[in-house]
Amino acid sequence: MIDLRSDTLTTPTDSMRAAMAKAEVGDDVYGEDPTTRVLEERVAGLFGHEAALFTPTGSLANVLAVRSLVSVGQEVLCEASAHIARAELGAHGAITGLTMRTWTHHRGQVDLGAIDAMFAPDMGPFFVPTAAVSVENTHNFAGGAVLPLADLQALRAWATPTGTKIHLDGARIWNAHVATGTPLSAYGDIADVLAVCLSKGLGAPVGSLMVGSRDAIAEARIWRKRLGGGMRQTGILAAAGLHALDHHVERLADDHAHAKLLAEACGLDPATVDTNIVVVPRTDAGDFVAAAGEAGVRISAVGPRAVRLVTHLDVSREDAEQAASILAKI
Ligand SMILES: *Cc1c(COP(=O)(O)O)cnc(C)c1O
Repeated sequence: MIDLRSDTLTTPTDSMRAAMAKAEVGDDVYGEDPTTRVLEERVAGLFGHEAALFTPTGSLANVLAVRSLVSVGQEVLCEASAHIARAELGAHGAITGLTMRTWTHHRGQVDLGAIDAMFAPDMGPFFVPTAAVSVENTHNFAGGAVLPLADLQALRAWATPTGTKIHLDGARIWNAHVATGTPLSAYGDIADVLAVCLSKGLGAPVGSLMVGSRDAIAEARIWRKRLGGGMRQTGILAAAGLHALDHHVERLADDHAHAKLLAEACGLDPATVDTNIVVVPRTDAGDFVAAAGEAGVRISAVGPRAVRLVTHLDVSREDAEQAASILAKI
């Protein structure tokens, strides 16, 4: 079986497992896990921010990050198919007590005109005030689309004078970085706070980080514990993340090349595929998924009219070529 359902399906490589087995550990709730501290400092530094916090999931990193910018009764603006709006089971409303309004873009891009039109300043007891804008790079449900740095910089230039904060959901920021050559620090510069994942294309079994100011991270540490996310000897997991940063970032270019190959086999223009996710319009999504599965390729339907293919660490060049020829036949 060639499994193209998600880049979360990767299993740790032998050398990653070896790094995990050797990790120096302590109790991270006491702030005494040395490997986790190294990971947090390294990731904060990559994005040019003061501090970072290791979390079990990207969803928790997003909840903590958005919470650091938006209070009860305030709103965050985001794209309509953003992960924070669709795929976190309402956590931001349920836990933080914020509301969301959305703009819609089929490629998940920043629409500054729509954002500016929606923006609501604090007018006292009349309207929900806008506290933050959230952007997702790469954009998962828009097929791994990259948000161009110039658009993010324009958003930053708009946000600062209005007092609006920016959250970047960078679950796959590594893919955007490798696909465009944009330094991670440039993405860090446009955001007040970020969430990044180690468990997607980077191939770690578990782990994400919130990245931000020292104060925001100190408060998030309290909220992480409050929500049940204070873990103990996390160095075992952090070691996998450090190993992934050393060995699995540049190779994302292979995943991107494999995704283009699959896109072409499915009759799409490979130039429309920015990174490692391919969304194929199919009116017969369910049947297509079933036929692919019978032929040895696992893919998933995203709704009744589209299927999604995701390339990752555990899909070799030969796997991608074989999957491409199987999918082309179907
Ligand atoms: C995967 C993902 C997350 C976090 O997901 P978890 O499964 O909670 O780790 C957040 N944002 C985006 C865009 C994602 O794709």
